[in-house]
Amino acid sequence: MLKFVVILISIFCCVSCPGHQSSSTFLSNKHQKIYKTSYCDQDKPFPQMVMIPFFKRATQIVPNCQTYPKHKTALAMMIFYHHWNRWFGDEDLIVKKSLEKVMVEWGTKKRTIKRGYSLKGELKENITVVGLTKSNSFIWVWQGRFHRIAESSLVHELVHVALRAKYGHGDSDHEGSEFNGWTIEHSAMIIETKEALRAFDI
Ligand SMILES: [Zn+2]
Repeated sequence: MLKFVVILISIFCCVSCPGHQSSSTFLSNKHQKIYKTSYCDQDKPFPQMVMIPFFKRATQIVPNCQTYPKHKTALAMMIFYHHWNRWFGDEDLIVKKSLEKVMVEWGTKKRTIKRGYSLKGELKENITVVGLTKSNSFIWVWQGRFHRIAESSLVHELVHVALRAKYGHGDSDHEGSEFNGWTIEHSAMIIETKEALRAFDI
């Protein structure tokens, strides 16, 4: 009888949730073997590259084992995607796929670059930056104030990654009008996402 009920439930689920096959969540742990063997080793030289669990080929380069434990980065990326999906959707899973191959390099010091845009789109010279999107899938992120992912620019850089995946460029002048893509909604989504990261104390 129990077996019959289980079969019935599975059939019901298959019929009622066909869309869940190409899910937009990241909770599948198909690659858990490699995630288990890829971890930060205190006794080995730094920087080290570690796989980000649940995100297929995504990796992070860490300057020490505290910045950041791989599950914290994975959680931050899941929270980012949850909010992205709610604000902008991702029906073709383009953003999800781009997150699944992203490489996050964490830095302990801020950097200075020759030119860059403010959030409002003003071009500035010799500015100190807390994050950089270097290519479609490579970002550098300063570890953030108070050593918290919520106070780093991870979410900001992931918006650039998502925009690059969608439009072929990351819209480096943000809310400015020189390039298209980034809107005030993207800036608002970042604020909301960071609030969620604070709620998880990461
Ligand atoms: Zn930016």
